[in-house]
Amino acid sequence: MIPRPFEYHAPTTLPAAIALLDQYGDEAKLLAGGHSMLPMMKLRFAEPAHLIDLRKIAALKGIREVGNEIRIGAMTTENELIWSPLLQQKCPLLVEGAGLISDPQVRYMGTLGGDISHADPANDHPALMIALGASFVLTSAAGERVVSADGYFLGLYYTLLEPGEIMTEIRIPTPAPGSGSCYAKLKRKTGDYATAAAAVLLRMQGGVVAEVAITLTNLGETALKANDAENYLRGKPLDDDTIREAARLAMAICDPAADLRGDVEYKTAMAGEMTQRALRTALSRCSA
Ligand SMILES: Cc1cc2nc3c(=O)[nH]c(=O)nc-3n(C[C@H](O)[C@H](O)[C@H](O)COP(=O)(O)OP(=O)(O)OC[C@H]3O[C@@H](n4cnc5c(N)ncnc54)[C@H](O)[C@@H]3O)c2cc1C
Repeated sequence: MIPRPFEYHAPTTLPAAIALLDQYGDEAKLLAGGHSMLPMMKLRFAEPAHLIDLRKIAALKGIREVGNEIRIGAMTTENELIWSPLLQQKCPLLVEGAGLISDPQVRYMGTLGGDISHADPANDHPALMIALGASFVLTSAAGERVVSADGYFLGLYYTLLEPGEIMTEIRIPTPAPGSGSCYAKLKRKTGDYATAAAAVLLRMQGGVVAEVAITLTNLGETALKANDAENYLRGKPLDDDTIREAARLAMAICDPAADLRGDVEYKTAMAGEMTQRALRTALSRCSA
């Protein structure tokens, strides 16, 4: 399929991109890596008259640590996440998750901000961001606002992003030293989206769970946070019984859509399996 004709803009500064977005309003769409946007345009699910490409805006790239926070420009690609020594050392959950997205070609182009903004429940970063306690900087002509990843995803392809806003930065509290994490993703083959996936960020203290985050991908209309499972585990040891019960509580919030990857029962069962795997692996990676 061929997209409808559109005018292409490639601003080199953030203010110029915001001005274009304000000028063209509903007629405009942002372009990041293009790996979700261009298929949508070819299928004519999206028919923007103006496409505003963010790739020439250097200020939207980069990974740095500021105080106890890791700050990542929205236009940072998956491969840049994977290759980052800072993330490898201090935020391995993000590196592991990015490495399980599609294939190398997609990871060269696809961006963190684009993956989050697309808000497809099959995308991996929404669950990773919620597990990591991330927040997003949204910038418009009116200034900046910072919103939490938990609560940002409202529905299928639907988020708190307002017209005129651009996601400019992702902020992640640096995980506590000694934390363990895992992203367990079941997919049919390389390049496929998750049949079911679970992200876990865990900190143990004195043999019991001090802090835990458990989130799920492609098991509902948005990424899911398994609050009941998290609350159940806090203060308990992680053994076969508690891990099984946490997985059962995580399965209870799943509402996946049946498709070629499986029916509802199978996907829900795999959510439990991925939760168990992620918890066990995260525990084995804890060093405190
Ligand atoms: C074969 C294939 C397999 C894939 N498998 C996976 C997978 O397993 N897991 C996964 O997570 N993803 C997967 N993807 C999707 C891929 O990761 C996309 O790159 C991602 O969904 C979108 O990122 P992008 O940078 O390409 O954004 P684009 O496609 O350019 O944009 C996506 C949407 O976000 C908006 N947008 C982009 N940047 C911003 C911003 N800074 N602020 C506000 N809005 C913005 C755009 O307007 C558009 O609506 C796959 C894609 C392909 C083609």
